[in-house]
Amino acid sequence: MTDGNGKAVLLVEDNPANLELATDLLEMAGWRVVPAPTAEAALDLAARAPFDLILMDVRLPGIDGLEAARRLKQNPRTAGIPVAALTAQAMPGDREAALAAGCVGDIAKPIDTRRFAQTVAAVLGPEGK
Ligand code: MN
Repeated sequence: MTDGNGKAVLLVEDNPANLELATDLLEMAGWRVVPAPTAEAALDLAARAPFDLILMDVRLPGIDGLEAARRLKQNPRTAGIPVAALTAQAMPGDREAALAAGCVGDIAKPIDTRRFAQTVAAVLGPEGK
């Protein structure tokens, strides 16, 4: 499993257990993971360092994930980074809301340990960008 191939992912997740699990799974798949517990922290980090992907929990304290995605897309420094939403449960309309906020796709939680890294790679498309 080398889906990540050393690429940098900014992982925005306020739930410590989910953050740890997702970090482990992504690191095992070859990603370099930078954690952020809030959207505010993520916006700051994304503006200061290059990332290949941002995984954005939708439900966050303070600024929510979709608003953070909108702000990332409005900022020329971060607009080019693909953002994938992490949705707590697949509700009708979640995917549409994520796409409308500028996300490339959504990944449903709870995290499926056997498929998570593969699913993350898949949202970036076949050429891995
Ligand atoms: Mn959350």
